[in-house]
Amino acid sequence: MKVLSAMPQTQLIDQFGRKITYVRMSVTDRCDFRCVYCMDEKMTFLPRDQVMSLEEIHLIARAFVELGVNKIRLTGGEPLVRRDVLSLFDGIGKLAGLKDFCLTTNGSQLKKYAQQLKASGVNRINISLDSLNPLLFKALTRIGNIEQVIEGIDAAVDAGIERIKLNAVILKGRNDHEVLDLVDFVRDREIDISFIEEMPLGVISSHNRAETYYSSDDVFSAIEQRYPLSRSSLNTGGPSQYWNMADSKSKIGFISPHSHNFCGDCNRVRVTVEGELLLCLGNEHAVDLKQIIRDNQGDIEVLKRHLVMAMGNKPKEHHFTVDGDVQVVRFMSMTGG
Ligand code: SAM
Ligand code: SF4
Repeated sequence: MKVLSAMPQTQLIDQFGRKITYVRMSVTDRCDFRCVYCMDEKMTFLPRDQVMSLEEIHLIARAFVELGVNKIRLTGGEPLVRRDVLSLFDGIGKLAGLKDFCLTTNGSQLKKYAQQLKASGVNRINISLDSLNPLLFKALTRIGNIEQVIEGIDAAVDAGIERIKLNAVILKGRNDHEVLDLVDFVRDREIDISFIEEMPLGVISSHNRAETYYSSDDVFSAIEQRYPLSRSSLNTGGPSQYWNMADSKSKIGFISPHSHNFCGDCNRVRVTVEGELLLCLGNEHAVDLKQIIRDNQGDIEVLKRHLVMAMGNKPKEHHFTVDGDVQVVRFMSMTGG
């Protein structure tokens, strides 16, 4: 007779009983933009040998899916600037058991790739857009061209991607006056938007985060005055809380790490481009998956055992504060936003 505890575990459950079904993976730390809240103007990127190969990233994705993960998001850096990345999209899109295959992108390459991404099985795309004003967009991204991004968004809509959502980081005194314009932009296209509070990830020199902090509650009030909001039943098991407008299909989300702690229902972990498994965005706990793969000749069963064990160390919650202190030295582009 088989002893139950000796059977391989097929699900990832942490010490607080949370089932891990969602993995975000960074496929590159590089980017064609330099958004002021995300990167410094001059960045040093990782040497190639510290970056996982596309095959290693695929192996980790496969291991997670075999352990019950049904949602994977590829992010970065800018995922679509990595060479040959579409082969990774094709490979992950074929994993049996994956229900949601998502991408977070700045939109710069979407016009070129939207159709192929749809064909790979990508069903959700988040596109970052903080301003519709060409000059302010350029100032916030330091490099970006707003027209190219809008063409990318429209290409994703035309390709028939099921769910498209904009991500807008709102900074006091920079783009807080554009909240309603951004809402009208998504209403016109019947796509969604999430407003994000800036998080203290990475040391930046462009501004003092404490001074630019703009609360989701203030964004909410501005929208509510024009479009009354009602709570949506949509729950992604993550930090976003969604709201509906009576006269539009577009949903409005708020990601508020400061003003609302979102850790209780956390169903996710992250993998950095160096292959570190991060059990919580706001904490430093990590497991070196790249080393495990390289030490064991890519044995997926060994990798899966390490993933199961690692869940025991997932912390209860993050510890961000509004005073702008940096608790986490990694940039968002390293951890995969
Ligand atoms: N390059 C892609 C993009 O911009 O969508 C994917 C990576 S980016 C790091 C993912 C998301 O993180 C973006 O929506 C970006 O606005 C957000 N982000 C970056 N740094 C942030 C910070 N310090 N606080 C809050 N959001 C941040
Ligand atoms: Fe690049 Fe995205 Fe970071 Fe902007 S937010 S610098 S687009 S990784």
